[in-house]
Amino acid sequence: MTQIEQVRALLLNNPNGVCSTTFLKHNIPRFGHHIWTLRNSKWHIDTSTCNLEGHIHKDKQYKYTWYEPIVITKEDNPHNLDNEALQIEKDIDNAEQEDMNKEWEQYSREDKKAKIKEMMREAGIK
Ligand SMILES: [Zn+2]
Repeated sequence: MTQIEQVRALLLNNPNGVCSTTFLKHNIPRFGHHIWTLRNSKWHIDTSTCNLEGHIHKDKQYKYTWYEPIVITKEDNPHNLDNEALQIEKDIDNAEQEDMNKEWEQYSREDKKAKIKEMMREAGIK
C-alpha cells in the first residue's frame, strides 16, 4: 500500500475522524500533503480539533474526517429536476419572496397588524 492509499483507508475506516497523531503512528509524516491531494480529487475531508475518545493532547491536534457530500434526495426533489432546473426554481422562489417583501413595505402599520392577525387566525394561532 502506498502512503496515500493508507491515508485513504484510514479515513474510510474511521468515520469519527483520524487524528494527526494516528497518521504519524502509521509513519505518514506527510499526511497533510496527501489530504491536500485527496481534496483536489474531490474528496470531502473536514478538519477539526481532535476530540476523539481517549485522546488527551497537550497541544492542539487536528483530526481529519471524511464525509459523503450532501446529495439531493428524491424527497427533496420529487420532480427529478436536474441542477439547472432546481436553480431556476430557487430563483423563482427568491423573486417571489422579494415581491412579497416589497408588497409588505407598502402597508401601513395598522394594515400590517391586521394582516398578521389574519395570518395567525388562518394558521389557527390566537
Ligand atoms: Zn487525537
